[in-house]
Amino acid sequence: MKVHQAEIVISAVSPKQYPESDLPEIALAGRSNVGKSSFINTLINRKNLARTSGKPGKTQTLNFYLIENALHFVDVPGYGYAKVSKTERAKWGEMIETYITSRKQLKAVVSLVDARHEPSTEDVQMYEFLKYYGIPVIVVATKIDKIPRGKWNKHTSVIKKKLDFDPKDTFILFSSETKQGKEEAWKAIEKMIKE
Ligand code: GDP
Repeated sequence: MKVHQAEIVISAVSPKQYPESDLPEIALAGRSNVGKSSFINTLINRKNLARTSGKPGKTQTLNFYLIENALHFVDVPGYGYAKVSKTERAKWGEMIETYITSRKQLKAVVSLVDARHEPSTEDVQMYEFLKYYGIPVIVVATKIDKIPRGKWNKHTSVIKKKLDFDPKDTFILFSSETKQGKEEAWKAIEKMIKE
């Protein structure tokens, strides 16, 4: 998809704030700092429409972006901040669970992991949670520019093994620096929103 139009529609916490629209939705999740904002900005050809929203203390909201009047990207606040309180963590969990399990428009989740490291416990939990609810997942391994090409296969298999990756899902090596994986990501998303 060639994106010329992208705008934030609403920051929502509860279902009554979700946009009243039947457009398909693609949610994006990952630990803070994984490169989620950079991924979104790369896909929509912007420098900084999506900003890191996972900082502790900031309101944790689901940010809905309207893309080309064709779909919504739903930016899920980043997880994995050690300093976040139990109450905040519980609220985060409830917000995500409500969205994922109730939103009919949700077609797939882009689950971002850092290509350099074995997925964290929270990465694995997120993937298991999505699989449990039968949500199609596009796993995007970020910052691949930081790994020499000769090691890409090794890193791919470490990630897939740790996640117990479902071969029906899509796996993409991505870099917002080199734009590697951008077309592949759009192809996967377009396929999901048509289904
Ligand atoms: P978010 O917290 O998941 O939204 O992460 P950001 O998109 O804000 O990125 C976190 C940091 O990682 C920033 O310093 C980015 O410049 C850097 N970063 C993000 N994606 C990439 C990438 O593909 N390659 C490299 N080398 N750095 C990246």
